[in-house]
Amino acid sequence: MNDPTTGAQVRRSSVPPLIVTQDNAFWFEGVRQGKLLIQRCGDCGALRQPPGPVCPDCRSFHWDTIESSRRGTLHSYTVVHRPQDSAFTYPLAVGLLDLDEGTRIVADIGGTDPAELTIGMAMEVVFTEHAHGEVLPRLRPVSPTFQEGRTP
Ligand SMILES: [Zn+2]
Repeated sequence: MNDPTTGAQVRRSSVPPLIVTQDNAFWFEGVRQGKLLIQRCGDCGALRQPPGPVCPDCRSFHWDTIESSRRGTLHSYTVVHRPQDSAFTYPLAVGLLDLDEGTRIVADIGGTDPAELTIGMAMEVVFTEHAHGEVLPRLRPVSPTFQEGRTP
């Protein structure tokens, strides 16, 4: 594909194809609506992530969802240098976030220099649209102006 203005070749890239199944479709639909949903067992109430058909605690097939606050603390992270994909900016920090609700989520981290990341820092989940319309969560440090108890 060529850029219509400059004629230069444009490399279009996107995230790897999303694997949407009957068990996780609700989660991807929530993300498209700007919601981070967490699956909750309909019998024992246990929360689980990633989505699955059966509660690992009581084996129930009944479930519903709660909407996450999208806030949590950084449990761990890594910084990826290679291989590079044009869908992302490198070095690419990828974090494991302990959500306030008690489940975890893995996503890339934006909005900060990876050298400034610290375990336990407050982060939030935001949503990013990629080249072919895919919407995925992204982690970013919580701005001090948005922390609880403060006003912008
Ligand atoms: Zn259960």
